[in-house]
Amino acid sequence: AGNFHLQVRVAGIGRGRVLVLIEDRTAARRVEDMRRDFVVNASHELKTPVGAISLLAETVRDNADDPALVADYAERMSRESRRLELLVGDIIELSRLQDGDALVEPEDVSVDDVVVDALDRVRVEADAKEVVLVSGGTENLHVLGDASLLVTAVSNLLDNAIRYSDPRTRVSVGLSVDANDPELVRIAVVDQGIGIPKEAQERVFERFYRVDKARSRATGGTGLGLSIVKHVAADHGGTVELWSAPGRGSTFTLVLPRHRTAADLPGPAPEAV
Ligand code: ADP
Repeated sequence: AGNFHLQVRVAGIGRGRVLVLIEDRTAARRVEDMRRDFVVNASHELKTPVGAISLLAETVRDNADDPALVADYAERMSRESRRLELLVGDIIELSRLQDGDALVEPEDVSVDDVVVDALDRVRVEADAKEVVLVSGGTENLHVLGDASLLVTAVSNLLDNAIRYSDPRTRVSVGLSVDANDPELVRIAVVDQGIGIPKEAQERVFERFYRVDKARSRATGGTGLGLSIVKHVAADHGGTVELWSAPGRGSTFTLVLPRHRTAADLPGPAPEAV
């Protein structure tokens, strides 16, 4: 039936006996369905910039004697190519994460370093909108994992925070130890932007889901940022929490298992002089 997929195999094993194998393929089926959906959606998303580029190229070819038009269309082509590049990059990243081989050798990662690198990545976008970036909270927290994946996750959250905020607002990163569980690290990205309606909050983590397709496209979104964040969190044994209210902003929080390092252990007693 709809939600179950059982595979039944019957094999004669001689002397009038049969072996019936019933295999529950429900989970495998779901993964297959997800993959197929992803390929269909990804192809659809790729068609838009590819189609635009080929149209623009044809127009340039037919109007080669009009330098103003050529300059304008070349600019648009480069914008669409950039979009294509981001999309392909996100698709590759996501399929790598889905294959589950992204985190083969987890290492000790300094959360402070992750935040510094992630802030560096979005500085240009923030400056362009005069969005003020701040960070603070508990220092010297560590997690076990892959630094570059964590930088990608935090910078995706920052990128969204800037993208879905008005100019001259503030985006902050707050680091803390979970109040209820000292073994969890919280990395919160807080914005004062447009917010997300309640009914869309579950869905924003789905691949290619956007609350406002036009806004996401116009600002260069791929629709994959948050699914990447969710995968990175899961691969690190963590989760992503979302608080948001339309008009009041959003807070996305990566919650990850804390990694205690030698520095966290009490040091040797000071020697008597
Ligand atoms: P996109 O590339 O479209 O930003 P994401 O997967 O990163 O894709 O986000 C999915 C959707 O969630 C966005 O299109 C947007 O509608 C919404 N969203 C994500 N982050 C925020 C935020 N900080 N504030 C408001 N809306 C957001």
